[in-house]
Amino acid sequence: MVKGTTSMGGFTKKKVHIRCRRCGKNSLHKRHHVCASCGFPEAKRRKYSWIKWYT
Ligand SMILES: [Zn+2]
Repeated sequence: MVKGTTSMGGFTKKKVHIRCRRCGKNSLHKRHHVCASCGFPEAKRRKYSWIKWYT
């Protein structure tokens, strides 16, 4: 039944990610409204949670 890759731990299994209008990828979290790819709607550069004490 499974065709193609089954990796990425069910990334496409549940629809938690919708298309991001900034990067165009299917990485915008539906509930959190944060893009996993570009970080939308945060700053243009991807923001990591640990970077605030790193800088
Ligand atoms: Zn994005």
